[in-house]
Amino acid sequence: MSELIKSIRERYLRALDRIASSAKKAGRTPEAVKLVVVTKAQPVEVVQAVIDAGAVLLGENYAEEGVTKIQSLQYGSAVEWHMIGHVQSRKAALVAANFNFMHSLDSLKLAKRLDRFCAEAGNVLPVLLEFNVGGEESKGGWEASDETSWQSLPEEVAQILALPNLQVRGVMSMPPLGESAESSRPYFQKAYRLQQFLKGQFPQADFSELSMGTSSDYQVAVEEGATFVRVGTEIVGSRSYQ
Ligand SMILES: *Cc1c(COP(=O)(O)O)cnc(C)c1O
Repeated sequence: MSELIKSIRERYLRALDRIASSAKKAGRTPEAVKLVVVTKAQPVEVVQAVIDAGAVLLGENYAEEGVTKIQSLQYGSAVEWHMIGHVQSRKAALVAANFNFMHSLDSLKLAKRLDRFCAEAGNVLPVLLEFNVGGEESKGGWEASDETSWQSLPEEVAQILALPNLQVRGVMSMPPLGESAESSRPYFQKAYRLQQFLKGQFPQADFSELSMGTSSDYQVAVEEGATFVRVGTEIVGSRSYQ
């Protein structure tokens, strides 16, 4: 095993350990939390090392960069490619044809396009709906910082649930960058409440997944109910762009 693979494997296993201890602390089972290793902005050789180190869920932010990697890497059927970044409508076909899971579905327009391309490709894409619980202008997702306005969300959510080639699985959120892991906690709690709200609004649908937490705060996210955490730099090291 190369030094690179070895060091990535150590950090990957350490992150799994940390997830397990945070889950236990919150009275949850470690298996309830899945680790997505974020490989955006990492060269193909590094992503290959991440796969060789045993990671199975890989997260990419940009459709074209992700597809280039997906097509040039060697991996088994256990590896899943997760889109975690904002996708422009004109990139919907690339995502529909190449990714296994989408965390960052952030508009009805994109949902309809993805659904159409999935239908053409003959597949069904599991998706999470991204909500902006911090109210920052720069963040994607449906505006959900003001809890008193949540009543307006179900209308569009219902339209997405009706699309036959998308399979809604839950909620994704990215809180404002804070001073410490603790500063994310209130936002994670709000995202959890939003997940519960949508479960209540749509009891027949599946809102079981909650994707939140990055290198800086994933342990807090696990304590607050995350079922997916998205960890890049802590496992793979720094990257050429943010
Ligand atoms: C880059 C990114 C991550 C990972 O961030 P790290 O700080 O490297 O762990 C997680 N989620 C999203 C949406 C990202 O863009």
